[in-house]
Amino acid sequence: MSKNFAEFPELRLRRLRQNATVRNMLAAPLPGPEKFVWPVFVVEGSGVKQPLAAMPGQFRYSIDTLVEAVGEVHAMGIKSLMIFGVVGPECKTPSGDYGWSPDGVVQRAVGTLKAAWPDLVIFTDVCLCEYTSHGHCGVLDGSGKVVNDHSLELLAKIALSHAAAGADAVAPSAMMDGQIAAIRQALESAGHQDTLLLSYSTKFASGMYGPFREAANSAPSSGDRKAYQADWRNLRSAMLESLLDESEGADMLMVKPSLFYLDIICRLKESTLLPVAAYNVSGEYSMLIATADRGWGDLKTLVRESIGAMSRAGTDIFISYWSNQYDKLLKE
Ligand SMILES: [Zn+2]
Repeated sequence: MSKNFAEFPELRLRRLRQNATVRNMLAAPLPGPEKFVWPVFVVEGSGVKQPLAAMPGQFRYSIDTLVEAVGEVHAMGIKSLMIFGVVGPECKTPSGDYGWSPDGVVQRAVGTLKAAWPDLVIFTDVCLCEYTSHGHCGVLDGSGKVVNDHSLELLAKIALSHAAAGADAVAPSAMMDGQIAAIRQALESAGHQDTLLLSYSTKFASGMYGPFREAANSAPSSGDRKAYQADWRNLRSAMLESLLDESEGADMLMVKPSLFYLDIICRLKESTLLPVAAYNVSGEYSMLIATADRGWGDLKTLVRESIGAMSRAGTDIFISYWSNQYDKLLKE
């Protein structure tokens, strides 16, 4: 009579975890630096490197200091950035006109960075909230409601000005209906056929954006963004947002935030053949730093575990503030 060895005591799963060499042999690798996009905040001036209190390790850079900082991440093998413009109240208007100014801070940053580092792939955030006096992601009507269709024209103008400045990829984040089709069409008619279009396709109205709003100076002065960003309580609508953007001509989709939405990343990956980016947002970054600062966890362990989770869920591209600390926290 044959004995079944596929059970305890002959079957012992701990055998495959008995030392680091065996464990490492069986482990899925963490994503390499080529999978990371570093989000950066750029301001006017020169010699500026303002630390962000709520995001230790991140700064507001003027263009010259950003070039230096990019040199450091470039040396780690990270060759992609997502640029956010941060401007003072003097540049803000109800319709956010500064956003498409050809010599705006984002447009000049793109030109300077591409000249310094030709192999960089530069994504630009395309939204109105950085440039509107009211801080909403579209223009408002008399009653304070965000007007969808007129906002599309303005978002397309911003995207075109970024493409003209040399951005490799534009990334609309306003969550207006039809924004991907409007921007794709504008890029095509202006001859920017090669400009990548990364949609912030499933972007939730989340409590995890607090530190970013301080960094980008972009909190809405009244109300919130729940009438345009996705409701985390509504799974079907959140999925439809991404699938519609695929049909409108996006090259890549995104889930934002990432760590509370690993299920959405996983479902989206199964529902599309397009690459899926995950935005590892400011609140996720600051949360882990705060935990480590209080002595409640080890930062390197926390960061690696969280990036591993995003990777396992199916993330292709990691838009993450950990990028500029890749060698210290994520390198094998
Ligand atoms: Zn916005």
